[in-house]
Amino acid sequence: MGHLENKVAIITGSTYGIGEAIARILAKEGAISIVTGRTQDEGKKVVGEIISEGGKAEYFRLDVTDEKRIEELMKQVYDKYRRIDILVNNAGVAGPNKPTHEYTKREWEWVFDVNVTGAFLCTKYAVPYLKMSGGGNIIYMSSIYGIIGAPDIPAYHASKAANRVMAKIDALLYAKDGIRVNSIHPGFIWTPLVENLLKEQSAATGKSVEGLKNELDALHPIGHIGEPNDIAYGVLYLVSDEAKFVTGSELIIDGGYTTT
Ligand code: NAP
Repeated sequence: MGHLENKVAIITGSTYGIGEAIARILAKEGAISIVTGRTQDEGKKVVGEIISEGGKAEYFRLDVTDEKRIEELMKQVYDKYRRIDILVNNAGVAGPNKPTHEYTKREWEWVFDVNVTGAFLCTKYAVPYLKMSGGGNIIYMSSIYGIIGAPDIPAYHASKAANRVMAKIDALLYAKDGIRVNSIHPGFIWTPLVENLLKEQSAATGKSVEGLKNELDALHPIGHIGEPNDIAYGVLYLVSDEAKFVTGSELIIDGGYTTT
């Protein structure tokens, strides 16, 4: 028996990157991973691989900026599986990399629409089903930049700070319902999001992506950036019964980045 046998887990943004790793690890522990995102081919590929390894998963198309679709998806999942136990608010975008005064309102709002309002709406529509399922878990994927600042991608860092406090608010609001809510704060993790940021920086500075990655590695006292599974195992801990006394907390998984 896995830690999460037959628990239904919705992971936003799980077509690739950190979310994909979360979907795989939770399914390995017996959960039914609901893989979501906008790119159907990627989502179906992840689901196919989970199933071929003996796990349970299903892909549902989801853009977290589409409130109607979020409401519909929660209902579809509950109607089919008769429970929702876990929501991982993982979908996120970095947004343009330029100083605050150069941001347009539209650019700022797009990052907040996905990272903040998207997470709010998923929580909003999942909570009634979590309650009907007798409680459960919500994770907000924040960042080290929900805790400390950095002189780049300003809307992203501000959105991740919002995610950190959203977890604490919901932890307090839903503790009596048996719903635990926590945030996770990854350091740099090698995913398409970081690779794309480095490609942009490479185009702007003329430095190689490999050289820029080495610079990122050096920012982490442990000597290198992380991999998606480093974060997925943190999610597994927080949503498992071993963490039954943990709510409103911040799990930092950053190779020591914020320690110095
Ligand atoms: P990624 O590689 O870019 O993957 C992002 C995921 O979000 C994809 O599955 C993407 O799927 C989905 N997504 C993007 N916009 C969406 C939308 N509007 N609606 C639904 N899904 C959407 O990013 P990642 O690095 O894995 O990051 C995942 C989370 O971890 C983010 O919240 C990020 O802020 C956080 N994080 C990452 C790092 C890092 O170093 N990588 C560090 C700290 C925190 P589709 O394109 O199919 O929609």
